[in-house]
Amino acid sequence: MTPLFIIMLGAPGAGKGTQARLLSETLGLPQISSGDIFRENLKNQTPLGLLAKTYMDSGALVPDDVTINMVMDRLSRPDCANGAILDGFPRTLAQADALDKALATVGAQVSKVPLLEVSDEAVINRLAGRRVCRNCQAMYQLEFNPPQVAGKCDKCGGELYRRADDESDTVRNRLFVYYKQTAPLVGYYFAHGVLLSLNGARAIEAVQADLLAALKAA
Ligand code: ADP
Ligand code: ADP
Ligand code: ZN
Repeated sequence: MTPLFIIMLGAPGAGKGTQARLLSETLGLPQISSGDIFRENLKNQTPLGLLAKTYMDSGALVPDDVTINMVMDRLSRPDCANGAILDGFPRTLAQADALDKALATVGAQVSKVPLLEVSDEAVINRLAGRRVCRNCQAMYQLEFNPPQVAGKCDKCGGELYRRADDESDTVRNRLFVYYKQTAPLVGYYFAHGVLLSLNGARAIEAVQADLLAALKAA
């Protein structure tokens, strides 16, 4: 079986993590979130986490060499033999290039790149109300996807928190960084014939259904 490497693309707040998690359950492939790996390292106060923090706090990207090494290390683990769902990586053309080269060495390639299209106003709104479970990283949104009990994770009862980089000034900077450094990947993957453009402004379940249908048809 050819391994399936799927990359979720879209602005911060477009729903990449939310959709990647659902897709990971359906397809039985690991979800690899570079942001989650950085936050995990920060929680454990590792040198990588402390380095990443200086960039994450302002919404800037962590340097390519550090990020590429970290994700390649994760992708080399046995659970990725059948593929993976990448969320938040690649975010620059250099990262995309490094990923293509690494996959080619094992006879694999990027299979499909779903792009979640959501307006700038909507992503800013979503991030203002984003809450994350400290324990299992499940994602909530106070207005669109609230937990059953305020402040508690539906899945594990963990405490929900607001990411420091979801404050409004940092959100604007992250959007700016997205347009400057990540948006060129849309053209890159379109030219490679693997881009799947989806309307990400619909309800979570509707986007997931569109995503599964698009992957099946492709
Ligand atoms: P979001 O879910 O809002 O898209 P992430 O959790 O993916 O945000 O990323 C949070 C932060 O972690 C980014 O603002 C950036 O500082 C850092 N980061 C995550 N992935 C990458 C990457 N591929 N390259 C560089 N920095 C990254
Ligand atoms: P990303 O990983 O692209 O930054 P997330 O998956 O973290 O995006 O989603 C950002 C916020 O928007 C979260 O609070 C999440 O609960 C919420 N969200 C995700 N998908 C939708 C959707 N289709 N409609 C409304 N809110 C959504
Ligand atoms: Zn939880």
